Amino acid sequence: MINPWSSSQYFDYEKLIKEFGIQRPDNYFDYFMFRRHLIFGQRGLDYLEYSIKNRIKFNAMTGLMPSGQMHLGNKLSIDQIIYFQSLGADVYIAVADLESYATRGVGFKKAREIAINEYIANYISMGLKPCKIYFQSENYDTQSLSFVLSNETNMNELKAIYGLTDSSSILHVNSPIIQAADVLHTQLKHLGGPRATIVPVGVDQDPHIRLMRDIAKRLRVYNVKVENSKISVYIKGNEDPKDKIDRAMEILAENGYESNANYEYRALYIKNSSVEDRIKIDMILVLEESAINDFAFIEPSATFQKLETGLKGGKMSSSIPDSLISLNDSGEEATRKIKHAVTGGKQTIEEQKKYGGNPDICPVFELYKYHSTDDKYVTRVYDECKGGVRMCGACKSEAAENISGMLKILAEKKDESLKKLDNYLIKRSS
Ligand code: SF4
Repeated sequence: MINPWSSSQYFDYEKLIKEFGIQRPDNYFDYFMFRRHLIFGQRGLDYLEYSIKNRIKFNAMTGLMPSGQMHLGNKLSIDQIIYFQSLGADVYIAVADLESYATRGVGFKKAREIAINEYIANYISMGLKPCKIYFQSENYDTQSLSFVLSNETNMNELKAIYGLTDSSSILHVNSPIIQAADVLHTQLKHLGGPRATIVPVGVDQDPHIRLMRDIAKRLRVYNVKVENSKISVYIKGNEDPKDKIDRAMEILAENGYESNANYEYRALYIKNSSVEDRIKIDMILVLEESAINDFAFIEPSATFQKLETGLKGGKMSSSIPDSLISLNDSGEEATRKIKHAVTGGKQTIEEQKKYGGNPDICPVFELYKYHSTDDKYVTRVYDECKGGVRMCGACKSEAAENISGMLKILAEKKDESLKKLDNYLIKRSS
């Protein structure tokens, strides 16, 4: 079981793919995190690819927990958000101040200060263009939608997904529902209606992704399925399905699809379809459905990034300050932490020269791999380490120089970024 509230680290990505049905990404996206397999898995990325190929608007969504400092590990989601924004995404970012209040006792005023100074200023300095950033506590849409969504799941399901027990806090019931509402509310009609919505996450968030995707499917009137390599559509509900089936057949015919209806089975079968048509047909029908269903959502897509290892090995954790580099650390502080990091190096320089180091288990190498966009440079560092040409002391100094340089740029841009907040923060919606 993957537990989003656990502090353990998940390293066996192959096992996760096999056991949890996570799919590997294809080669569609030419971005360093895909190229280097730092994004090792995905769910529903085909909706995003279809939208981009067909110039259909799509969303990118992420959240931040305003309870500590932004560090290199949680920079990776924003790197992706900025990338998807460059491809045309409308970006939404939820400040999870309700959760930080409930789980960590951070008051709303304090949460606002942390969110702006520790996170949002850095996002803007990193290159995030104007978007919609909101506070959970001020967003009527997400609060009311979470109430609606809570009717689409039950305790048995939450127990199965999260391992909840009778003594689990109700917070652990509410939290996944609010997160589902955060993501799905971006598809409400007044915000643009149903759209592919990409959510970049660490794999520890997969239970939330599975739940929100299932809930989105349950709310649909038109359920698109692959049966015998063709597409069938089933109509949910108890009332006479004739009007909905006829309307679906009409709209599909306008798009070149011929179908047979079976009113008794509440179904229509698309004759000239194949597996590849599933996304297109679903996207056609969800738009049609949004005229009659306020909660017609496209199941969200997710990318799963590998979790960057802490500088002390294991997980980056604010409870071990030297395991992570905060984006607000000074260059000197970052350098000190990197100099004290564990490595994949050998015990002595002689052994390192003779046998080479092991970059595959080295958190210092991850600083290169996760935070440099230059493929050739990262490959050179890897090869030099393996070949015994690169020594850990010099390698750490070089990594420290790179990271300090990045932190310096962020610090220099901070005041300017704070002046632009009005282009990002959306006002209270109630
Ligand atoms: S040379 Fe660099 S990459 Fe290789 S083990 Fe040492 S610190 Fe890690």
